[in-house]
Amino acid sequence: MQSRRDFLKTAALATLGAGWLAEDALAGEKRKPSLFHVNHRAGVNPVMRLRFFPYELRLNHVFTVASYSRNTTPDVQVELEYDGVIGYGEASMPPYLQKELGSVESVMAFLKRVQDTIGQFSDPFQMEDILAYVDSLSPGDSAAKAAVDIALHDLTGKLLRAPWYKLWGLDKGKTPDTTYTIGIDTPEVVRQKTRECAERFNILKVKLGRDNDKEMIQTIRSVTHLPIAVDANQGWHDRAYALDMIHWLKEQGVVMIEQPMPKERLDDIAWITAQSPLPVFADEAVQRLKDIPALKDVYTGINIKLMKCTGMREAWKMVTLARALGMRVMVGCMTETSCGISAAAQFSPAVDFADLDGNLLIANDRFQGVEIVKGKITLSDLPGIGVVKV
Ligand SMILES: [Mg+2]
Repeated sequence: MQSRRDFLKTAALATLGAGWLAEDALAGEKRKPSLFHVNHRAGVNPVMRLRFFPYELRLNHVFTVASYSRNTTPDVQVELEYDGVIGYGEASMPPYLQKELGSVESVMAFLKRVQDTIGQFSDPFQMEDILAYVDSLSPGDSAAKAAVDIALHDLTGKLLRAPWYKLWGLDKGKTPDTTYTIGIDTPEVVRQKTRECAERFNILKVKLGRDNDKEMIQTIRSVTHLPIAVDANQGWHDRAYALDMIHWLKEQGVVMIEQPMPKERLDDIAWITAQSPLPVFADEAVQRLKDIPALKDVYTGINIKLMKCTGMREAWKMVTLARALGMRVMVGCMTETSCGISAAAQFSPAVDFADLDGNLLIANDRFQGVEIVKGKITLSDLPGIGVVKV
């Protein structure tokens, strides 16, 4: 007769084994046969080891904003190893956000401090203690902290043989469609890009906040009736003008507005939100958990980005707090590999809008993970953050 212990082992294997085996097959990596990796070699306690290296992301298309153009994004890749299992993480630092997110040099310097001291923790499941310690090392460095956080989540999920959306109790059938951004360009190019995107996505995103906003929307509308998410990127400076624009955009089939005015203009934004026929989301105005309570009656919702909020642990707390305050939630990203994007996708069943197109913009993705199927974010059953190296 099976002992209770054996029965639990068998049941756990039956539940979680499929994803584990699939990952082994895909990764071609050798795994130990023991469950949950508690049976490491007798007398030898495993330790956590952190590795990291710069990895410049090459963009498929030149990225242009008013002041400059670029075709790469600085990025640092992280591996956290424990008992023969490797968790992956990354820090992405678009140059226009360098003040907030850091540079390759500052991220590497921060990770070196973590590398030298993470051995003080003997158990990767002490996530609250480990990540509170990492956070205490400096006031900023949010992208570097996110890299450690993502790697630790990937590691612990793999040790438990379960993806994080399951550990959080989420239904992967409830993932949203992702938006895909149509860049500002000549009407001819915008029409061409819109035609291509309308075949692959169910909702488009447009950056407004300039003097040709209506023209941009009309150009897209000459090609498709798909819903549009609008990000004004703090670009409107008069609240009455902004509210008029939002009413006009609603008539054009726009479904949400991100950061309509400069983040400091709390009273004006609250005035807009109170009368807006569309939900208004904070992006530049929100970085971490502590920022949310002050935004409660100012915005309808918040945009959560792992590189800004220090990773999955704080992101999940932000989802919980925003919901408790009656706010809506969206998830966004930087240009990242499928590592960062798949990590963010783990909590996407709990959000109202997702803007997770960052991995689709790069030519040298190191990972295969979350997929976009007919425009919808589609999670696998792979454990941790759900990625394999390609
Ligand atoms: Mg934004």
